[in-house]
Amino acid sequence: MIKNIVAISSVYGPIQSWRMGSSLGIDLIMDPSTCSFNCTYCQLGFIQRITSERKVYVSTSTVLEDFKKSNWKEADVITFSGSGEPTLALNIKEVISEIQSITNHSKPVVILTNGTLLNNPAVLNDVINADVISVKLDAPDEETLQAINRPASTVHLKDIVSGVKKLKQEFKGKVQLQIMFMPQNKNKIDELAKLINEIKPDEVALNTPTRPYPNGWDIITRGAHGEDIKKIKHDTKPLKMLTKDEAVNIELRLKELTGLSIISVYRK
Ligand code: SF4
Repeated sequence: MIKNIVAISSVYGPIQSWRMGSSLGIDLIMDPSTCSFNCTYCQLGFIQRITSERKVYVSTSTVLEDFKKSNWKEADVITFSGSGEPTLALNIKEVISEIQSITNHSKPVVILTNGTLLNNPAVLNDVINADVISVKLDAPDEETLQAINRPASTVHLKDIVSGVKKLKQEFKGKVQLQIMFMPQNKNKIDELAKLINEIKPDEVALNTPTRPYPNGWDIITRGAHGEDIKKIKHDTKPLKMLTKDEAVNIELRLKELTGLSIISVYRK
């Protein structure tokens, strides 16, 4: 019997993102999930390949074919995210450049990254032509990093912070720090504010795990929002979110300590 196999596209959406509006996702990683972190709250579930190795995971020609077939004109932004850490893809710079040429720079390019590779000058150079880079920073100390983000063995907080500082110095676009608040870090606001003040981002995005944690890997989770969450074939477990009051208090405290513009998932 011939099976009718539908190839999964490396381009998905547009989906509605609370931070970015209508966002077309570009997945340079695909299958299996691959990341230098294995966050306890990851919407992809337990990361299948935890690594800092950079390589071409999906060819540039495949991504561009998928992009041309997509509804990119309907999106507000083009977001590099997907089934893992996008800066692990060695062809990220080439794909950004080709997409900017197809769209004639009419759609801002956003990269969602965990920041673990930014200390590498080659990676910094690869992302430099994006418009917005949103860097995850959940932990103010190594112990919290290990507890929340469970990184690859070569990854340490001091290198992440040093990489984000270099990004802030060299990148001309907007640097956003995204913080996922959970029981392990919700009482570490002052310590996080100290790091934020060293990095001096343009904006802080305050988040909490609104999407459940799937008990298995399924590529659909890369863009699962709202109704899509019901299509995940594995069981999911809900995660501990901040209450609205906790989120408001953290936002006020962070604002007081950093003076920065703060956007919050609770105000979407
Ligand atoms: S950095 Fe992102 S993709 Fe990687 S494990 Fe954490 S939430 Fe998942």
